[in-house]
Amino acid sequence: MTQRVLPIAPNQEIIFKAFEALKNRAPEQRNLSAKARMKRLDALYKEIWKRRDDLKEAMWLDFRKPPEEVDLTEIFVIKSEIKAVKKGLREWMKPKRVPGGLALVGSSSWVRSEAKGVALIIAPWNYPMQLMFRPLVAAIAAGCTVMLKPSEVTANTAQVVAEIVSEVFDPSEVALIQGGVETATQLLELPFNHIYFTGSPAVGKIVMRAAAKHPCSVTLELGGKSPVIVDDLKSLKSTAKKIAWAKLSNAGQICVAPDYVFIPVHRKEEFLETLKNAMIELYPGALQENKDFQRIAAPHHAERIGNLVDDAVNRGATLLHGGSVNTDHCWVEPTILSDIDSNASILEEEIFGPVLPVVTYQSLDEVVSFINDRPTPLALYIYSKRKKFIREVLGRVQSGGASINNCVIHVSSNHLPFGGLGNSGIGSGHGEHGFREFTHYRGVYEQHFDGAGALLMPPYTPWKTKLVDRLLRWL
Ligand code: NAD
Repeated sequence: MTQRVLPIAPNQEIIFKAFEALKNRAPEQRNLSAKARMKRLDALYKEIWKRRDDLKEAMWLDFRKPPEEVDLTEIFVIKSEIKAVKKGLREWMKPKRVPGGLALVGSSSWVRSEAKGVALIIAPWNYPMQLMFRPLVAAIAAGCTVMLKPSEVTANTAQVVAEIVSEVFDPSEVALIQGGVETATQLLELPFNHIYFTGSPAVGKIVMRAAAKHPCSVTLELGGKSPVIVDDLKSLKSTAKKIAWAKLSNAGQICVAPDYVFIPVHRKEEFLETLKNAMIELYPGALQENKDFQRIAAPHHAERIGNLVDDAVNRGATLLHGGSVNTDHCWVEPTILSDIDSNASILEEEIFGPVLPVVTYQSLDEVVSFINDRPTPLALYIYSKRKKFIREVLGRVQSGGASINNCVIHVSSNHLPFGGLGNSGIGSGHGEHGFREFTHYRGVYEQHFDGAGALLMPPYTPWKTKLVDRLLRWL
């Protein structure tokens, strides 16, 4: 079936034909039973499982992703997403009756969950299968037909993903188009019914502008800077380990990676030392040879991260650990910085690499105004044993999501909504929340017998005026 994979960066005619097929199929897809939708999800997972080794090889070639992490953060995530969706789908699809109220006597009202139609899913490279298939599971569950656009940066994985899609789905149900910015731009010209975009805030704005032309609804899963606030804890050891793991996993290329850490000023030295030891413990020995430590996806990203470190150091930051960058080998050493000038780019731009700035604080007010002066983060992390402290931070600082006494883990839930706010995104995915993004909730009203409606039509005789007045008082 692999021959059905479309050419990379196909011409406009191929793209248009693929879109027309999806559009023609959409009404039938919308009416698929829950059973038929689940059958497709099962087939998708079966094929992923069959191609498990190919996926591992592709992601190793793309950015030396450890095979164990392909299992844990790509394949398992899709398995558990499908399981959660299958569990809830029949209930989510059921029409829901709603009260009509006194004014609507003689009628019934209900809400139908209906697929929006043809959806476009654009994915980034940092979790190159998971971030394509997790929204696809939601779109199929909702009854949409789907066009997929994986990232060109992780090209080996994009090819395997394209082959999986072509094996499982008829091209009139799901079509996958590979290509870069030019291809994505051509796709955005088409009148989709929903666009689910995962990527940077800058491109998210381009997507939203394109969606406004038709117009269509959007889900924007974007990035940004996710801060960590560490309270004056008794011991910092397990906190440092969890932060180090979350920062270095995927070499820091996680949308919700802890971007920078606040630590009480009198605990600075202790925290820095504990953090450094935790990083060494996780990835011991000569790091260039360590198979567990991932590479950066492209030389220009390694260069970008190196520039952020250089800028901070040139402005007087202390380089406490790491700092080496090998652009040709897409390698950035786990790095810790402290004493950073507040104007340094590393405190403004999303880092998206294994570099952790540590900032000290004396009062929570300082922390709150630092974060609130910047765009709303995708995630907020609080390490504290004090309920009052946690409540106060949650109450004063907004973010897309939050984890308490851990980082990143909230993303794995199929029950929590996952999404940003403002600069970090619009809408939420995962489980029922993803299903809702691809669903139009149609309100339907049915009149069973003529009520008193005719009494309220013109001409407004004095008697009717009185009736209106009474109704206003009674209802
Ligand atoms: P990106 O925005 O550069 O690219 C994402 C996708 O958009 C790719 O498929 C790319 O081909 C396409 N694209 C790029 N430029 C485009 C343009 N001008 N017009 C139309 N499409 C275009 O992002 P990236 O570098 O692949 O990923 C990193 C970013 O994604 C980070 O900001 C990260 O935080 C964010 N991210 C967010 C989530 C989330 O769930 N919120 C998850 C992963 C990554």
